[in-house]
Amino acid sequence: MSLASSTITDLRQKLVAKEISPSDIIRDLASAIEQKNPTLGAYLGWDVEKALAHAEQADLTQPLGGIPIGIKDNINVLGEPCSCGSKMLAGTYRAPYDAGAISSLRRAGAVPLGRLNMDEFAMGSSTENSALGITRNPHDLERIPGGSSGGSAAAVAGDIAIATLGSDTGGSIRQPAALCGCVGLKPTYGRVSRYGLVAFASSLDQIGPITKTVADAALLLNSLCGKDPRDSTSLDVAVPDFTQALGQDIRGMRIGLPREYFVAGIHAGVSAALQAAVKKLEALGAIPVEISLPHTDLGVSTYYIIAPAEASANLARFDGVRYGHRSPKANDLLEHYMMTREEGFGPEVKRRILLGTYVLSSGYYDAYYLKAQRARTLIRQDFEKAFESVDLIVSPTSPAPAHKLGELKDNPLAAYLEDIFTIPVNLAGLPAISLPCGHAIEDGASLPVGLQMIAKPLDELTLLRAADAFERQ
Ligand code: GLN
Repeated sequence: MSLASSTITDLRQKLVAKEISPSDIIRDLASAIEQKNPTLGAYLGWDVEKALAHAEQADLTQPLGGIPIGIKDNINVLGEPCSCGSKMLAGTYRAPYDAGAISSLRRAGAVPLGRLNMDEFAMGSSTENSALGITRNPHDLERIPGGSSGGSAAAVAGDIAIATLGSDTGGSIRQPAALCGCVGLKPTYGRVSRYGLVAFASSLDQIGPITKTVADAALLLNSLCGKDPRDSTSLDVAVPDFTQALGQDIRGMRIGLPREYFVAGIHAGVSAALQAAVKKLEALGAIPVEISLPHTDLGVSTYYIIAPAEASANLARFDGVRYGHRSPKANDLLEHYMMTREEGFGPEVKRRILLGTYVLSSGYYDAYYLKAQRARTLIRQDFEKAFESVDLIVSPTSPAPAHKLGELKDNPLAAYLEDIFTIPVNLAGLPAISLPCGHAIEDGASLPVGLQMIAKPLDELTLLRAADAFERQ
């Protein structure tokens, strides 16, 4: 097996035994990237020399010592481009500092390597909203990798990254992980610092790992979590050793199956894979319990009010004065703002800014934004109630396997509706993981299906324990 296709766990063993050096890994990855990235389009850029220089300095006694990690293009890494898949920032902006998550990775000995493609400003579920190129699903090159962290998932699945960071506002770690057949974990809101993550919807955004195995997700999480005084929403709570969750059994664990999630309309192959997954969990000793999350149908509309509202405020900073693109055509200040934003943002970002500005405008605020906040509370309460009787909730991650490129591009509403299972988790601030649970056949292609597990706030240990037991079986 090549180094590029190895897990963090395997590479760490080899590094500690001095069978390989960190630069061997970077060199192997670099040649894999050069060979495969022209087809996959997962990376927007990578700087091998810089990674080699950092790798030589890496402290191998640290838990991630010498391990290269690919980074989604909305997380600031000192001196590197951070374009958020947008013309607004591409070619003009370089990060003047490290994001909190990057500082944590560096402290743990990891080496950031490469910038991974994404839907522009993380808005989308296919990576087709990137202004900077197409990313393809390694399982079928005619299909989307999911999104918005599509580059992060395609790189891991295509063996051109060992592991990557993504960000998840409404499913953007879990859904691409599901569609590409990898493991994606969205931590509890506040577990990981958002300092230096370009904000999309600040009450929902969270950084997390995309990996080849559950064990690797646990390892990365160990280093990523913790209070950061530069992000006031980051939580000052104890960080357990998440690897303790590995190798355990799940006998007696109560697994909730939400009635509202197992409905008609789910792709037959996804449904079948889920049923088989529930059987497998039962065989491992878990106890399935039917539960209800009665406000599930409010999730998508609630999210598509709150997220654009926050985005419209967050994206106001891209005005051509402080960051990135600046229109050369403007004659006065107003034109400067208007032309810069007209030229810099793509259609989906503009749609979100319009939606967000509308729902926040006076006269509509109560009817939309305030109402959405109330619905958000109901959704959170549904989960609180459900977790009184179960330890974990399972569902499909996405109602369908990867679509063909272009299939939903002109139908944003259909794309929004596919976020139905991932969005409620962000609205409630919960931790959740997606892991592979089989395949669905579509047009002769065998496509990965993701199983989503959702846990109580801060209970990533239960999530990892169940996911690891499932994966080992
Ligand atoms: N697909 C969702 C959206 O378009 C979620 C994106 C995300 O989690 N960043 O907003």
